[in-house]
Amino acid sequence: MSIDIQKVRSDFPILNQRVYQKPLVYLDNGATTQKPKVVIDEVAKIYSQENANIHRGVHYLSEQLTQKYEDARKVVQEFIHAAHGHEVVFTSGTTESINTIAYSFGEKYIHEGDEIIISTLEHHANIVPWQMLCERKNASLKVIPVNDKGELLLDEYEKLIASKTKIVAVNHVSNALGTINDVKKIIDIAHQKDIPVLIDGAQSIQHGKVDVQELDCDFYAFSGHKIYGPNGIGVLYGKEKWLNELPPFMTGGEMIKNVTFEKTTFNELPFKFEAGTPNYVGAIGLAKAIEYIQGIGLENIESYEKELLEYATQKLSAVDGLKIIGTSAKKISVISFILKNIHHYDAGMVIDKMGVAVRTGHHCAEPVMHRFNIEGTIRASFAFYNTKEEVDRLCEALMTVKQMFG
Ligand code: PLP
Repeated sequence: MSIDIQKVRSDFPILNQRVYQKPLVYLDNGATTQKPKVVIDEVAKIYSQENANIHRGVHYLSEQLTQKYEDARKVVQEFIHAAHGHEVVFTSGTTESINTIAYSFGEKYIHEGDEIIISTLEHHANIVPWQMLCERKNASLKVIPVNDKGELLLDEYEKLIASKTKIVAVNHVSNALGTINDVKKIIDIAHQKDIPVLIDGAQSIQHGKVDVQELDCDFYAFSGHKIYGPNGIGVLYGKEKWLNELPPFMTGGEMIKNVTFEKTTFNELPFKFEAGTPNYVGAIGLAKAIEYIQGIGLENIESYEKELLEYATQKLSAVDGLKIIGTSAKKISVISFILKNIHHYDAGMVIDKMGVAVRTGHHCAEPVMHRFNIEGTIRASFAFYNTKEEVDRLCEALMTVKQMFG
């Protein structure tokens, strides 16, 4: 089965508009994805008909919405194939999910002299929490290097693993270059030494099947807004064993069992990690988004986006003076590039005026930019609602950029 692109596009109201008198071409899906009408309608329905605080009230609305929130958790559990529903913690996004583990795992298990392994390809969200943990604990960060294609050097990774290594945290897919990392291998290597692994899945979850049990990762983090769901919701998957062992990150209501002024006991999983009123609207909207993409089929999404990537790579490579940064053999539908003698911000401004939305800059991944001796790139990131005609529109915009600055 293939994707009915016109039908799919009509599901996303925002795509059907003109900017600067031109049909909008939205190629900034790595930053955030657009929302299908089913998600928008679900959010509107909750606020107009169903809203009540969950887990607290004994009244009708509260009970109904609590059930929907817990059903949403089940949808996520099945989507990532977690062994238990209580291994799915709702957070505000990937950033909060990673901070939760960096703090909670870090407080308990990281001590002076310990080492944490990350990679050159990380987003700042998977660098800074570990860096700050290292500062607090007098521990140190070790970084897996990449080759000129933007692929992690796994031989070097093996050499970094030492008796002091306490955790490995790497992304599944690089947001800046699109590289798909062999996280299964990274996890297997770490597990041979009983080292847990956190995977930042912010850029992978929306592009293909993720099975946390098959990967055997200890933690997996992702954001709802990057997988066609609402903003301000995300997921932290953690193996039951870890979530039971770790102390809570945030404290307050919901995460407690009993509170006296002398002592507090914590709630069971996953509530121990969900302090305060959770973003139930976001969680239910996320479940809708997941059901929507399941309706399209992840295999269909994967193969259509692969076709788009190949087409765009071929078309962009033919642009004189354009250099693609990140040429890994395995990539998702993201192309980062620079233009000879033209600053990416200047290019971005002109591309925007042609009705095409791309991202320019360091993409919150400054160390990757340093590795390639550049300040930033222009990044086109494609979703399954994009078309080859839109790739052509990007190429036309680049021609205008070159005429203006070349
Ligand atoms: N990790 C990666 C690889 C990302 O691409 C992003 C966002 O772009 C994040 C983490 C942070 O995600 P969020 O801002 O949704 O928390």
